[in-house]
Amino acid sequence: MIKALTFDLDDTLWDNGPVMVRTEQGHYDWLDQQAGHAKRFPPETYLERRLAAADRYPLRRGDFTFLRRTALFEILSEHGLDNAEANRLADEAIDYMLTLRHEVTLFEESLPLLNDLKHHYGLAAITNGNVDIHRILDTPLFDCVINAGEWLAPKPDARTFLAAMARLGTAPSETIHVGDSWTEDALPALRLGMHVAWIDRKKTGPAFSHPRLHTMTHVRELPDVIERITAARA
Ligand SMILES: [Mg+2]
Repeated sequence: MIKALTFDLDDTLWDNGPVMVRTEQGHYDWLDQQAGHAKRFPPETYLERRLAAADRYPLRRGDFTFLRRTALFEILSEHGLDNAEANRLADEAIDYMLTLRHEVTLFEESLPLLNDLKHHYGLAAITNGNVDIHRILDTPLFDCVINAGEWLAPKPDARTFLAAMARLGTAPSETIHVGDSWTEDALPALRLGMHVAWIDRKKTGPAFSHPRLHTMTHVRELPDVIERITAARA
């Protein structure tokens, strides 16, 4: 019997591509207006510095806010700002980045779907991203939220899935994970014995079949998947 669902967020409940383009450019442009640094340190350098920071701090490689802040502070310092000023501007740029990051538009089906599911199932959110779902939803819909990157165990680390199920009080065979990434959602959840509703939006994922794997192109197909899983187990 299915008792709970765990959800990935980005590109599962909303289209995250445009959000990240706006976020990436928006906060770096804003910072350039304050510091005039972007000519010397173009966006590509900012990305390189983030990757270098992830190498330098392997345990925090999934904490994207930390990596961004580290890179920004470094760049502003090299640009000649003193520590206090570099810290202040890095903090403000990160605040603005997070504001832009949360300007997401849920798929029109996402909220009604979650609202309906929460009456019947335990619900958890597991994201590797730095989105705070409470800044997006007016009412709490999830019994458990795990920002796995900031918790030092980004997916596909099994601990994030296990922590969610421990909190929900369900076994893997009673839980469906819903997500769009083959390597970070579908595969680790399958290995743990969970059911998987995998969103392969462009149908470009690996051809792989498994009795617990259910492929969809959009989260709106989830009720059908739940019905199929339930019927198969009846
Ligand atoms: Mg995703």
